[in-house]
Amino acid sequence: MADSLPSHASVVVIGGGIMGCSTLYHLAKLGVSDAILLERNALTSGTTWHSAAQVRALRNSQNLTRMIQYSVDLYSRLEKETGQSVGWIQKGSLSIATNPDRLTHIKRQEALARAYGIDARSISAAEAKERWPLMNADDVLGAVWSPDDGRVSPSDVCAALVKAAKGLGARIFERTGVTGILTENGRIKGVETSQGTVMCDAIALCTGLWSRELGAMAGAEVPALACEHFYLLTKPIAGIAGNMPTLSDHDNHLYIRDDSGGLLVGCFEPMGKPIAPGVLNESFEFGLLPEDWDHFEPMMMNALHRLPALETAEVKMLLNGPESFTPDGTFMLGETAETRGLFLGCGMNSVGMASGGGAGMNLAHCIVHGHTAYDLSEADAKRFAPVFNSLDHLMARAPEILGTHYDIAYPGKQLKTARNLRALPLDAEYRAAGAHMGQVYGWERPLYFGKTSEPTPRFERPDWFTNVGAEVRAAHEKAAIFDASPFGKIEVEGKDAEAFLMRVCAGHMNRKPGSVIYTAMLNDRGTFESDLTAQRLGPDHYRLFTGTAAIKRDMAWLSRHAEGFDITLTDSTEAYAVLGLMGPEAARIVAECGAPELNELGYFRQTGAHLAGIHVRAARLSYVGEAGWELTCKATNAPALYAALTAAGAVPAGMFAQTSMRVEKGFCAMGHELDSDMTPITAGLDFAVRKSGGFIGAEALAAARASGTRSVIVSLVLDDAEAVPLGHEPVYRGDSIVGKTSSAAFGYRIGKPVALAAVKVPLAEGERVKVDIARRLCDATVTLGPVFDPSGSRMKP
Ligand SMILES: Cc1cc2nc3c(=O)[nH]c(=O)nc-3n(C[C@H](O)[C@H](O)[C@H](O)COP(=O)(O)OP(=O)(O)OC[C@H]3O[C@@H](n4cnc5c(N)ncnc54)[C@H](O)[C@@H]3O)c2cc1C
Repeated sequence: MADSLPSHASVVVIGGGIMGCSTLYHLAKLGVSDAILLERNALTSGTTWHSAAQVRALRNSQNLTRMIQYSVDLYSRLEKETGQSVGWIQKGSLSIATNPDRLTHIKRQEALARAYGIDARSISAAEAKERWPLMNADDVLGAVWSPDDGRVSPSDVCAALVKAAKGLGARIFERTGVTGILTENGRIKGVETSQGTVMCDAIALCTGLWSRELGAMAGAEVPALACEHFYLLTKPIAGIAGNMPTLSDHDNHLYIRDDSGGLLVGCFEPMGKPIAPGVLNESFEFGLLPEDWDHFEPMMMNALHRLPALETAEVKMLLNGPESFTPDGTFMLGETAETRGLFLGCGMNSVGMASGGGAGMNLAHCIVHGHTAYDLSEADAKRFAPVFNSLDHLMARAPEILGTHYDIAYPGKQLKTARNLRALPLDAEYRAAGAHMGQVYGWERPLYFGKTSEPTPRFERPDWFTNVGAEVRAAHEKAAIFDASPFGKIEVEGKDAEAFLMRVCAGHMNRKPGSVIYTAMLNDRGTFESDLTAQRLGPDHYRLFTGTAAIKRDMAWLSRHAEGFDITLTDSTEAYAVLGLMGPEAARIVAECGAPELNELGYFRQTGAHLAGIHVRAARLSYVGEAGWELTCKATNAPALYAALTAAGAVPAGMFAQTSMRVEKGFCAMGHELDSDMTPITAGLDFAVRKSGGFIGAEALAAARASGTRSVIVSLVLDDAEAVPLGHEPVYRGDSIVGKTSSAAFGYRIGKPVALAAVKVPLAEGERVKVDIARRLCDATVTLGPVFDPSGSRMKP
């Protein structure tokens, strides 16, 4: 008798591709014995069944690398665990470079892989040719060899995961499509299906390219869209005997491997083909899209160059399958901001098989424990501005993201599509001043000024080096304006405002009105959910300033902890502009603009004032290490304020100048030094934490403090002024990797490249270490504090 749907399940996994199967398996492993998986067709019948299923660990970020490493471990042990073969073939992968920048790119990835114990080594073009004799290696400059990479049979992996999950109590329902999602007060209650209703506490949404429409059923934004993705299959070719490594020829947009004695040649062409929602519906079961030889032709030419044997090969088919892409090329994992209990595991950007093992593990961990197994904020389901859920923007952006899959990770690189979505109040002024814009959370922000042409992407000193230097010099010697308008701004108002913030923030939130308070917002593990600056405007009113991209996430966190407090929370981000006026001449400028009294304002104090007749709230603080104020005014008044400040001698400065100055000052930033694996103690920010407790995370912090946990953040100054560290580089002491850089820049005020790094062993002031920049070990000196103005005298009045 067919199994019937239960009336209740604690977790409903929707979708039976790799993400759904892996999530179900890991839920079962974590003891959720009543989880069910609903698949409207047959398991794997969406995208997973036709995946090329390569598992390649080299990535640009530490935790995505770590996650794929987990997948490798899982896939290599599943057969033993379940008795079900998964077709795991561990023949390694070969990444070739045909230009110097690609060589740098793959060597940077190799360096990062080594930091995680992944075997990856540089080899010569000749050795690469030995490993792939069919390849034309004439233009190959070098390669990285990763022996542990492999590939799987996607359907068999899913079968093994499901078999193990069933053994632990999970149940699978095929031919059971979800037709509606039930919510109550913004919380998941259940699902309606073609076979009846199931009440549940949580949903894991693993519905691949259909996730945006499923998310909408629950009122959540899921900005992902499918594109066509191609690989060519040939009949057997002489010279292919047995399994070979995967060959990555990313300069030619190709991945290549053997398949049943022939070749499989896949591509990420520069601009993909988007698929509008609705085109592929539930009848698309084990479906494929039509061949498109015109579109594939340039890639075919590239393939013929790399593999001359293709010339005479017989083509079996040009497979065209759909795959979903997100606005930034990373998948979405975790609970949505809009709907409690709705967890996303989708938008896999063509690495669903490689990531699936680790992503499913992290998603299950998130559902069961409330957080991923390690920080995955780069994949956070709450990271996209609502504007990105627009279909028009997705139709433009998704094909570009497909094309960037094999891009070289140049510093400062910007996407071209779906731009100009959100303009700063001073957008026109900045463009008139020659701003080169970068997109953050949909906002166009000046990266640097004095733009004369598009910068040439490179790993050496960038085109903007002198522009940024001039902006730093202005802030250091005269006065510069740093635009902080896109910072998330949240008004916390009501009679319980202080009590609420004392609960959700670790800082001294009970300081008097007129104060500025820097605070960490922690979870109950004592690690960072966010860090923010609060201005206490009155006894019952605070304005919180949080990261530009953190607003959705922070609003969700605050709202979810507001129950029982008499407060209101309002997102006022767009109502106000914030101009950071910084530098030794800032004092003269505010006096000339009619507010000399601001010079009497103490550090971390704020007050109302009028500058050139415009009401501002001036807060005395500095993120760049020079004296000044962050001036908040109505967005509509920003042009007049800017005109007055620039007429008095201030010049605009961009984000690159700010980052350089921040790193010299050793100020930690969310997403760089601070994340959900870091506590204020390990980040060296315990001074800003209330030792009296009473806030979320206090117990965990007290325990960590008692056990002698210490700061792990150090500053590094590199000897070689020409070296260009970018962050994510291993740090060596002797032959051992002792840490990794988290932010890096050229420090114009000290005249040397500078980095912040998290280290796992204590390092002493002045100790000598090496930073691995694309396998070149650069000497550096450790400083246990800011490398510029350690006493902070320049920024305090
Ligand atoms: C040509 C090609 C080659 C690729 N090669 C690689 C590779 O080499 N390495 C790699 O890592 N990745 C690769 N990928 C990507 C990888 O295959 C995908 O990322 C992955 O398979 C996506 O899995 P998923 O579980 O997210 O989605 P899917 O496999 O699409 O699963 C989603 C499931 O949800 C079901 N569903 C949808 N709506 C409902 C509903 N209302 N109710 C119930 N069920 C529903 C669907 O029927 C479907 O089965 C490739 C992709 C393509 C197209």
